[in-house]
Parts: sequence; C-alpha cells; structure tokens
Amino acid sequence: MTKPTSYQSLNPNTGKILKSFELIDSDHLEHALAAADTCFQSWKHTSYDERAVVLNKAAGLLRANVDDFARLETLEMGKRIDEARSEVKFSADILAYYALHAEAFLAPTKLHPKTGEAHMESSPLGALFCVEPWNFPYYQLARVAGPQLMAGNVLLVKHSAVVPQCALAFEKLLLDAGAPPGAYTNLFISYEQADLVIDDPRIKGVALTGSLSAGRSIAARAGQNLKKSTMELGGSDAFIVLDDADINQTIPWAVWGRMYNGGQTCTAAKRFIVLDAVADEFLAKFKAALEALKPGDPMDETTTHGPLSTEAALVQLLAQVDAAVKGGATLLMGGKRIDRPGSFMQPTILTDVKPGNPAFREEFFGPVVSFFRVNSEEDAIALANDSDFGLGGSVWTRDVARGKRIASRVDTGMMFVNSIDWSDAELPFGGIKNSGYGRELGNMGIQEFVNKKLVRSGHIPAPV
Ligand code: NAP
Repeated sequence: MTKPTSYQSLNPNTGKILKSFELIDSDHLEHALAAADTCFQSWKHTSYDERAVVLNKAAGLLRANVDDFARLETLEMGKRIDEARSEVKFSADILAYYALHAEAFLAPTKLHPKTGEAHMESSPLGALFCVEPWNFPYYQLARVAGPQLMAGNVLLVKHSAVVPQCALAFEKLLLDAGAPPGAYTNLFISYEQADLVIDDPRIKGVALTGSLSAGRSIAARAGQNLKKSTMELGGSDAFIVLDDADINQTIPWAVWGRMYNGGQTCTAAKRFIVLDAVADEFLAKFKAALEALKPGDPMDETTTHGPLSTEAALVQLLAQVDAAVKGGATLLMGGKRIDRPGSFMQPTILTDVKPGNPAFREEFFGPVVSFFRVNSEEDAIALANDSDFGLGGSVWTRDVARGKRIASRVDTGMMFVNSIDWSDAELPFGGIKNSGYGRELGNMGIQEFVNKKLVRSGHIPAPV
C-alpha cells in the first residue's frame, strides 16, 4: 500500500476530520522539482541582506499572527494552545536568528599553510529534501528553513500526513514574506514518491526528523545516491536524580519533561533514574503531580493534559504498555485510555522495567514514565548509557560541578544540568547512536548543507 494515501487533518480531541488533501501526481512533482532547481540558480546569487529581508518578514508575520498559527496546530495535532503559541514565537525567533547571523557563520575563514595563502569558503549545495514530523509542526520547519534559505539553498518539504494545514500555512508564510516560487515548496507525497525525490539529481541533500524506521529507510536511500544527509531521530532520554537533588524543585521539571506536548517530544524525559536515597520521596511526589493533571480540550487554557496526536499513536502506546506489563513491569498508575471522546492516554508510570523487557529499549512517545531505582551514581550512569538511543538527558543535583561531571559521561548529543530547556536557536540540537547524526540550529546547523571549499593561492614553484 502507498503510504500515506492522503494527507488528513483530523482533530484528535474530537476524532472529527477537518480536511483531506490528495497526493500530488508525477507531473506536479516534476514541476515542483524543476521550479526549485530554477529558483536555486538565482537564489544562490542573492545577498545575505536580501535573504534576511524575506526571513525577517516571515518572522514578523508569525509574531503578528501567533493565534492563527497556534490554533491550527492545536486543531490538527492536539498541542495545548499555550504550548502552540510558544512554538510559533520560537519558530519566529529561529528565522530571525539566522537572518541576523548567517553571513557571519558562513564568512570565509583564513587558514595558515606553510606556503602561500589559503582560506575556506562556503557555498550553497542546491535543492534540499526535508522530511518532517507532526510533533512540532512549525518549529521543525523553521529549523530547516531558517538556516538553509539563509545559506542560499532551496527546500522541498514532505511534512507529516497528520498536519497538512500547518504544512500549507508555513509554505504560504514564506511566499507572503517574499520568498520566490521554488524557494520553499510543500509536497503532499507518498513514501515511494519521497524515494524518487531523493533519487532525483536536482536534489543535493536530505534532512529527516522522525522515527528510527524512517531514518533507516531515508538514510539508506540518500546513501545509495551518495547524498549528504542529517538524521534527527528518536530518543529515550534519562532524567537522573542524584541523592542531593532538591526534590521539590525537580518535580515540576520531571512533570514538564515527560508531559510537555503530550509526552510527544524526542528529547522528553523518558527514563527516570533515581538514587535510592531519594527514590521514595521522588516517586510519591511525581505520582501525585501526574494525578493532578486535568485532561481536556487543548484549546481550553485551563487544560493541563491534552490528547495524543492521533488514534493510531494512542493504540500503539497502549500496546507498548501492555507488552511492558506482560514482560514483567509493574503498572504503578495509568496505562489506559481516558474515558472521553478523543485520543487521550492516562499519565502512566511503569516500574520494575528490567533488561529483556521490550520497554527497556523502546521509545515511549507519549505520557509514559519508566521509573528506575539505582544504588549509586555509577549505576545511574551505566543505566543511562544502556540505551540504543543517544539524544539528550539531564542530571538533577545541588552540586552543579558533580552534575557536569556526570553529564560528560553520558553518551548523548545533549545533556542538561538542573533544567531541561532543550532548544534554543543558538544551541546545536541532535544526537548520536540510533538518535541519528548531524545537528540542527546554532552555527553547526547552517554548516550541514554547504560546500566548504578550500581555496589556496600563491606562487609556489612546481616540485622537480
Ligand atoms: P515518523 O513516522 O518517522 O514520521 C516523520 C516523517 O517521516 C513524516 O513526515 C513521515 O510521513 C515521514 N516518513 C516516515 N517513514 C517514511 C519513509 N519510509 N519514507 C518517507 N517518509 C517517511 O515519525 P513521527 O511518529 O511522525 O515522529 C515521531 C518521531 O520523531 C519520534 O521517534 C521522535 O523522537 C522523532 N523526533 C526527533 C526529533 C529530533 O530532533 N531528534 C524531533 C522531533 C521528533 P507520514 O507522516 O506521511 O507517515
């Protein structure tokens, strides 16, 4: 079966279909590829200032219409409205950040060879193909559009079939901001068509944010074509609570870290690894805080627990919890769907998750806590590292130097001490192991799809 067969906007709070969009046909796809290629031939010659005008205008439009953009994602994927507004503003910040800094990030750098002169310069590669997930419908697009358009590349984007209206809204945003046709094109395409796009010689690079299985497929296809790719994949981040942690300050972060965005965040805290000395207190307070969450319409400002993005996501998560319990885990709370319309999952805590249980290695993409009690700091580090993923993680302690020492020993792309403010326009984001490779955001993010060219000059006599 072709996947997806259509792009469907469906409200997970009510189960009602809002709008459907057909896949584009091969003529339409060819037109989009040709338009991107044509656009690149002129876009690459525009100045940084000219590109910045477009990106700054787009940032301004996002800020001026925060509610409209936010309501659309709340309707399509169930993000709570206050979280949606923050995402829209942050997306604007990312576009504005690259408008301001791209020229400096990509400025030529002088090298110092023994003879002659040399420098590195950066030039855009061409049309990039980006495949993006539904969990941050605008932020994920801003993460590629900001740096790559400023670098002089152009983008063809396959957004998730779950958020087609957000996908179209972002494309329109850039056109309204003055981006030329072909600079940013949304594609409603199937996986097979996505493969054809990767194969197309006009595509010069591939960026995916998504699951491990999508990563395996898309990275392999890019590899067959010898095309540079970046992979921002899943995670199973450890939240390490040391015996000297201030539990009352840690609990709100634990709740936020697991429950923000309905628990559907790659860098969400998923494995809570707590030293025995504070484990009982932490678990009791964490459980009470999760029990106090109020499920409801994500459009309602007073709701503190929204639906999952789709019914399929809920069904998968329920099955994972069942498998965990069959595998020997203890269900301390939750584990069921909430008895109300929409795709709601009870906040859930699993304990006694042992190696060999599928839950020990899987990512839970929703409000499911895996709780582990350990005897020592060394055991905490070993357990944190016993994961196929390597995206992020956090350490909670009154001793910041101790926290940093532990952070250095956990094998992930990002570590946080006493906060989990995961993402910032100027900080690189990405992981290792099955969490992928490459970085988005910051200076590193804009370097991923540019030709770093060496130019050496000088009158050097030929060797004899
Ligand atoms: P997903 O199912 O992999 O989907 C992500 C995107 O990839 C969607 O556009 C999807 O299209 C597309 N896709 C999947 N398989 C494909 C294939 N074989 N060929 C072409 N396109 C394909 O992931 P998700 O469930 O939407 O997102 C959640 C995952 O993303 C989690 O694992 C999460 O941890 C990860 N994530 C990682 C980061 C990061 O920066 N590291 C950030 C956010 C999310 P359809 O929607 O049409 O199926």
